[in-house]
Amino acid sequence: MDDNQPAVHFEIPEELQPFLPAARRRARQRIAYDGTSTIGHLVEALGVPLPEAGPITIDGAPAEPSRRPAAGDVVQVAPMPRPQPVPLEPGQDAPRFLLDVHLGTLARRLRLLGLDTAYHNDMDDPALVVQANEERRVLLTQDRGLLRRRALWLGAYVRGSRPDDQLGDVLDRFAPALRPWTRCTACNGVLVTVGKEEIEAQVQAGTLRSYDVYGRCADCGQVYWRGAHGGHLEEIVERATRTVAAAGA
Ligand SMILES: [Zn+2]
Repeated sequence: MDDNQPAVHFEIPEELQPFLPAARRRARQRIAYDGTSTIGHLVEALGVPLPEAGPITIDGAPAEPSRRPAAGDVVQVAPMPRPQPVPLEPGQDAPRFLLDVHLGTLARRLRLLGLDTAYHNDMDDPALVVQANEERRVLLTQDRGLLRRRALWLGAYVRGSRPDDQLGDVLDRFAPALRPWTRCTACNGVLVTVGKEEIEAQVQAGTLRSYDVYGRCADCGQVYWRGAHGGHLEEIVERATRTVAAAGA
């Protein structure tokens, strides 16, 4: 790039550098400036989805993403603060989520923790944005293109390829209030506590002898009991509880 060309400089923190192209993965970024692009547009041109960017400042003064910088400006982009505040409606004590088609395992784990989590394995991008906006759900995805959609009210990039890592990332980011064992992992319905006599026909005799407390999904009728999958789910719940306690501290 010609050094005499008008340019804007960006400071990109380490947390956001993985979004940059591998060859440009460093803090200081210089972009040739045409005088018309907004800060938000330039941040996305660098590869960082705007929902991942925290507060933006120029020389320490807050700057909105819609602002046009001046040539020579140094724009500092902070990482999204953790825990990230999410606007909640009255009576709501944790964010609601919507997951894209590739995050089915993560969806079941969030439901296991009692988080209201919508997931369908056949929704295209425009439909995801519509549902996220209408139901005020945080859209969780690993698709940066989806996070660039202007109409999306609130989205977040999920870090990690293993479901354990993905869950840890979401819990660390939002530190949501958990209510384990209160939601159907299959359909997101609310579980209602039922007595043994009500579910005798649906559960094997061996299970009936071993467990006393059951939940039945109010939407799909699936019956749950704790211990159904050995200690694996208990472990997920315990780890999640610790992660949220540490993130919220
Ligand atoms: Zn259900």
